[in-house]
Amino acid sequence: MQNQMNLLKDLQEIDQEISVIEATRKDYRNELAGFEADATRVQEMVDQLSDEIAMLQQSEGELQQDLLKEKDNVVRVEARLPEIQTQKEYVAVLKEIETAKKSNKDIADQVQAKNLEVTTLEADLEEKNNELAAINEKADARGAELQQLLDESEAVLLKRTKTREAVASELPITLLRKYQTLFQRRAGLALALATRGACMGCNMQLPPQQYNRLLQVAEIQTCPHCNRILFVETEV
Ligand SMILES: [Zn+2]
Repeated sequence: MQNQMNLLKDLQEIDQEISVIEATRKDYRNELAGFEADATRVQEMVDQLSDEIAMLQQSEGELQQDLLKEKDNVVRVEARLPEIQTQKEYVAVLKEIETAKKSNKDIADQVQAKNLEVTTLEADLEEKNNELAAINEKADARGAELQQLLDESEAVLLKRTKTREAVASELPITLLRKYQTLFQRRAGLALALATRGACMGCNMQLPPQQYNRLLQVAEIQTCPHCNRILFVETEV
């Protein structure tokens, strides 16, 4: 019975260690995933900005074409001036030129507006590209560190798991199952010290008869309140 109790104590110690290693490994993996999520998020912004800039540049190109046409138009109409015979025709042509010039100016204004928008977006793009580069640089450096930590902890985990299996194999299967269930339900504390008539797992008083039997270290007993497997300090 004392031997089983010692095995259980060993097992709990190893299991607690395994829990810590697994939690740490989870943190490492989350940190790695965080870098990836950050990079993806900024990359999406970069792609979106690049698309917007390309679209603006295309529409700016189209406006430039329109502008050339309008300029041609002005030249073409102005060329007719020397051949004009009547005052009425003269006024009409002047009006046509004025309209064409106004249209020219409108288009030129639009081109300028597009240009300004492109400049602003290009500044945003540069900022996002720098941000992405910084994330990737950090991810590369820390990522290598994290990968090493993961590899190292995996080796330790494997060792502990082997030790655990060896210890567990020495325990009766029903006791092992009971312990395992408690370990999960009681957040890694399946065993509780009983001292001065109380369970230290839940701080509740134990029935005096049960406590007396415990002191005799004759059988495995559980706390009637928290169900943990009880042990008493014994002289070594
Ligand atoms: Zn208890």
